[in-house]
This record gives sequence, C-alpha cells and structure tokens, in this order.
Amino acid sequence: MANLKDTLVNRVLVVDDDAALIAEYLRCLEEDIDPAWGTSTLYDLEKALFGQEQAEKGAARFNVQTQNQGEAAVEAVKAAVAMDAPFAIVFLDIRMPPGMDGIEAAKKIRAIDPDVNIVIVSGSMGPEVDNLDCEIPPADKIFFFKKPFHAVECRQLAAALCGKWHSDMALRHANEELERRVRERTTALHKLAYYDPVTRLPNQLLLLEKLQGLIDKSEDSEGDSVVVLLDIERFSFINETMGYDAGTELLRSIGSRLQRAFCSEDPGKRAVVGRFGADEFAVLMPGVEHDIAIRDFAERVKQTVEEPFLIQGRDLFLKASIGVAWHPVHGRDARLVYRCAEAALHRSMRSPDGSITYYHSEMRYRARHKFDLEAEFRNAIESGLITAFYQPQQFTDTGELAGVEALARWIRPDGTIVPPSDFIPLSEELGMSDLLFESVLTRVCIDVAGWRDAGDWTVPVSVNISAHQLRNADLVSLIKKVLQKQNIEQNLINLELTETALLEDLTIARPVLSDLNAYGVGIHIDDFGTGYSSLSYLAQLPVQTLKIDQSFVANLTESETNTRVVQSIIALGKAMGLEVVAEGVETDRQYAILRKLKCDLVQGYFIAKPMPADRFCHWRAGHADTQSLKHESAIVNIDKGRG
Ligand code: C2E
Ligand code: MG
Ligand code: MG
Repeated sequence: MANLKDTLVNRVLVVDDDAALIAEYLRCLEEDIDPAWGTSTLYDLEKALFGQEQAEKGAARFNVQTQNQGEAAVEAVKAAVAMDAPFAIVFLDIRMPPGMDGIEAAKKIRAIDPDVNIVIVSGSMGPEVDNLDCEIPPADKIFFFKKPFHAVECRQLAAALCGKWHSDMALRHANEELERRVRERTTALHKLAYYDPVTRLPNQLLLLEKLQGLIDKSEDSEGDSVVVLLDIERFSFINETMGYDAGTELLRSIGSRLQRAFCSEDPGKRAVVGRFGADEFAVLMPGVEHDIAIRDFAERVKQTVEEPFLIQGRDLFLKASIGVAWHPVHGRDARLVYRCAEAALHRSMRSPDGSITYYHSEMRYRARHKFDLEAEFRNAIESGLITAFYQPQQFTDTGELAGVEALARWIRPDGTIVPPSDFIPLSEELGMSDLLFESVLTRVCIDVAGWRDAGDWTVPVSVNISAHQLRNADLVSLIKKVLQKQNIEQNLINLELTETALLEDLTIARPVLSDLNAYGVGIHIDDFGTGYSSLSYLAQLPVQTLKIDQSFVANLTESETNTRVVQSIIALGKAMGLEVVAEGVETDRQYAILRKLKCDLVQGYFIAKPMPADRFCHWRAGHADTQSLKHESAIVNIDKGRG
C-alpha cells in the first residue's frame, strides 16, 4: 500500500515492444524530462522517485518507466509495489511478440497491484478487448486506448487517471483509518462487554461463552469441563474496614494469583479464570479426566486463595466457599452447568466451615420444588410447626442454671425434625426470615411466660437472630411488640448474633444494636473466633457476652495451643467486661478445663442436649441433683489432671 509521500508522484509504466512508440509516449508525458531515464534501472527509478531532480524540476507531472515486454512489466510492477512506490497507470500494448501479450500481463499485474489503472493499448478493437472489465476486474481500473493517439489525448488520459488514482488512494487511506478506528472501538467494546474492568478478567458473559465453546468441541476432546465457583467470605468486611482501595487490590491479587496458578499450564488444557460476581470468581478447567482429578482441582483452587495475601502491609487470610459442577454430568448447556455450580456454591456459603460442595442432582430437585417447599414452609410457620428447643447453660463455678438457648426446630407432621441449618437458609432465600424470627420469639415468650407464671423463673433465654434481621428496619419495634404482648421483661431475653453476621455490615448493625441495647435486651456474640474481628473492635459495640465457638472447645483437649487460644479469648473478654460462654462442651474433661480457665458459663451435650419445652421443664426439676453430680465429677477430674 502506497504511503502519502509516494502518492504525490505520478508514476506511469509504459510497456510496448515498439521503440518508436515508447519514444512517442515519453514525448507526450515527459516533454521536459530527459527520455534517457525512461528505460531506467531500479536505481534510476529510485532516484527519479525520491531524488533531487524530481523536486528541482517541480513541474514534471509524470515519472515514466518503460518496458518492452510483458514479463519485464510484471517484474517492474512487483518491484514498485515492494518498494512501496506503486504505479498509478500502466499503459500495456496488447501484442508484444515473442513474449506474453498485454492481456496476460494485465492479469498478472492486477494480481500484484489491485489499485493500478491498466490501459490496454491496441491498434484495433478485436473481440479480445470486449470483456476486459470482467476478465481483469475491477471495471473502473481497466481501460482501452486506441492507437494511433494524439499526444494531447495521451496526456489527458494519463492526467485523468493519475488524478483518479490519487483520489482512490486518499479514499483507501480514509477507509483504512476508519477500519482501524472501528477495530479499536470494537476491541474496546468487546473488552467492556466481556471483561471485568476491575480485575481485567473475563466476566460472566465471556465465561459462559468459553464454556459453551468447550461444550461445542467436547466430542473431539477428552475429559470433563469443570466449573469451580468461589466466593470470598466476608469480602464486604474487608472493604469496610480497610477501605475500597484495599478491596480492589485484593480482588486483583486474587485474580492474578488464580491466573498464575491455573492458566500457565499445558495450552491444550488451559484454564479460564474470570470474575463471576462481586466477590465471586470462576475457574473453568477443560479436559479433567476423573472424579479424583476434579476434587484435586477444586482443592487446589481453595488452597490457592486461602494462602495469605499481603494487602497494604497486612497479611489477609481469606476463606473461600466453593461450588463445583461439570459438563457433561450436570448439564449439556453452559448456562445450566454454571447454574448448578452456583447452587453448589450457595450450599457451601451456608455451611459454617465454607467448604467445597460438589453439585448433585438433589439440589436441582430442590430448586425445582422450591415453590412446593415455600408453601410447606409458610404453612409450617403459620401452623406452629416451627418451634423452639431449649438447651441450658450453667455457671462453671457453682453448676447452677445460668440461662437457656432457644434453638429453632421444624417438626414435620410425620414427626421428623428438620434442623435449623436446613430451613434457616431457606427462610432467607424466600424472604421469610423475619416471619420465622417472629414465630420463634413468640414461642419463646409464651414458654417463658408459662415458666415465670409457674413460680421461680429468673434466667434469660437467648434467641438467635441472623444478619437478615438486622436489615429489617422494624426489628426493634417487632421485638417490643412480641415481648409486650406476652408481658415479658426485657432482661429475660437475649439476642444471639454470630460474629460473622454482625460484621457483615457494621454500618447497619451498629445503630440497631444501640436501639436494642437501649430497649434493654441483652446482646450476645455467637460463634466467636470464627470471624476476623478483634475484641477491641467488638468492645465498641453494646454487647455483654461472648460465646466461644464450638470448634475451639472441641479441640480443647488436643493441644496446649488450643487451650492457650481459649485462655486468651477468655482473658481478653473478661478484661473488657464481657461474660464468656463456651458452647459445645461434650465431656467432663472439657468442662473441667473451662472451669479452670475461669470461663463463666458452659453449654453443651455434657450438660444437656437441646430439648422441647416440656422435657426441659422435667430436666430443670431434676437439675439441681444431676448437675451438681456432673459438676462435682468435673472438679474431681481436673483435680486428678492436676495431680
Ligand atoms: P448456635 O446458635 O451456635 O447453636 C449451637 C448449636 O450447637 C446448636 O445446633 C446446638 O444444638 C449445637 N450444640 C449444642 N451443644 C453441642 C455439643 O455439645 N456438641 C455439638 N456437636 N453441638 C452442640 P442447632 O440447634 O442445629 O443450631 C445450629 C445453628 O442454627 C445455631 O448455632 C444458630 O446459629 C442457628 N439457629 C438456631 N435457631 C435459630 C433461630 O431461631 N434463628 C436463627 N437465625 N438461627 C438459628
Ligand atoms: Mg446461638
Ligand atoms: Mg454458636
């Protein structure tokens, strides 16, 4: 393609085997130029094109090169194009024995230079020139010129065609520039449509297309295409406490770490890493050949993001919930496979340990039957099938009953008991968690009113609330309404909020907690130790009690380190004036250690399992005896341990 410098030159190639005619052309086109360089070598040609003479002559309109055979003409055109100095016109004699004729040469020239104007010159108008435009397209660049011609005719034709050539070139330039801009714009739009602007990773749309691409080619490839979706637990907390920039930096670091870990493998099996949602990433891996490899891959994804990230000088330890689904087992369409991975991810997000969930068809069944389930659940709330079981807490120093935790249970008409881990997430999904909370709190208030009215009830009952409830603007008035209706004093009710729920959105939690505190109900932090919070952070909130997470209690006897962790939580909690409860106490050994560590309260199977209200009444009646026995045995145990 000619550049602008070259297009200022009118370059003409004249091809004729008749030396006299060549001279005539030169006379017509180059009256003021020495005809000697008409038959120039490449060197001369170059000089003529870019050299001094040209500029000095100024007025010269045509730079003419001549050839007397078709083959040489083709070579000259080739050389000119290669030098980026193409001809505007080639005058081609139709017959040049013994070599190639003009038409043949024209075809070859056209194949080399699509822009040059070719003028076939002949003394007669034979049939061979009838279809020139079809034979040597495009039609607007092939012409016929009859010999003998007048000098003026030749000059005018050359001038007109050179002018046309220059406009063609300018138009071509403009078009190319336009195409370049369109390409640039398309790339930018493609990026916008298919890439996440923060991490520059493929977005959901591109991830879908990539998987569909793999599925379409799956007949030729071996193994499954696996989708691993991962959600960063409590990302919003990091955003909130360390700032938006830290959150962005973290997202980018996660993306690039995943890419380094999975995208540099064998190109045939290269994974795609993308951002699937706010704090969700996807890793798509083709050609995974068996279940063990799928599990291995998912584990590796989890490990990769759970290695600490250094963000703004701080080590961040993340927890990822993972959902896994794969083609062709879970669907033959990309959308379906992702939906399955999402269902599995949501299951993981609801499980307390942020595990890896592999999709199974039961989840699809559940999704399909969501409507039925919704109706059943609503009915369960309305008909009082959701009730509370009670689990006692006792003082470690005296063994006396210190409080009770109310734990929701769904008792189906056939008597089966559904645990809260199954229906609380469902209630949240269905937007019915406030209804559920109201019905559990009402149940608790009715039971407490009964115990109180029977005589000597003084201890508080703890009711669990979820993060969802904190977002309910009417939470405080709802609690007041229920308590007032059953005439229950505020000091008989505590609310238990998990540390994670509390920190999910502190801007929302803080004012709600203040209102609840002002109203007079107690606020307890549940499952403490599983989140990121520091105790000093919690100290700014109006809470009274910390419940050490069961996992710490379960490991209590295993090592000195675990004991020291529990010991520090207790010590720090107390230093801040908080009461400390250990939950999940199952053995006398654990009880004894907690007692020794001066944990205020314990709760767990060692004392009693959660039970329905009537059984709890029986248990309480006999509590004084049985508990002092257990309490004593724990004391003996610890004394033995000491000895
Ligand atoms: P949580 O509040 O931490 O309750 C303690 C859980 O540990 C209960 O499980 C209890 O049955 C169990 N547990 C108690 N002692 C022991 C023990 O010694 N060993 C073991 N292995 N487990 C013990 P549950 O009743 O299945 O409740 C699970 C979670 O569901 C609760 O954890 C709480 O977060 C939530 N939950 C329960 N009821 C409600 C409710 O009405 N509303 C809301 N939002 N959440 C609730
Ligand atoms: Mg609780
Ligand atoms: Mg708990």
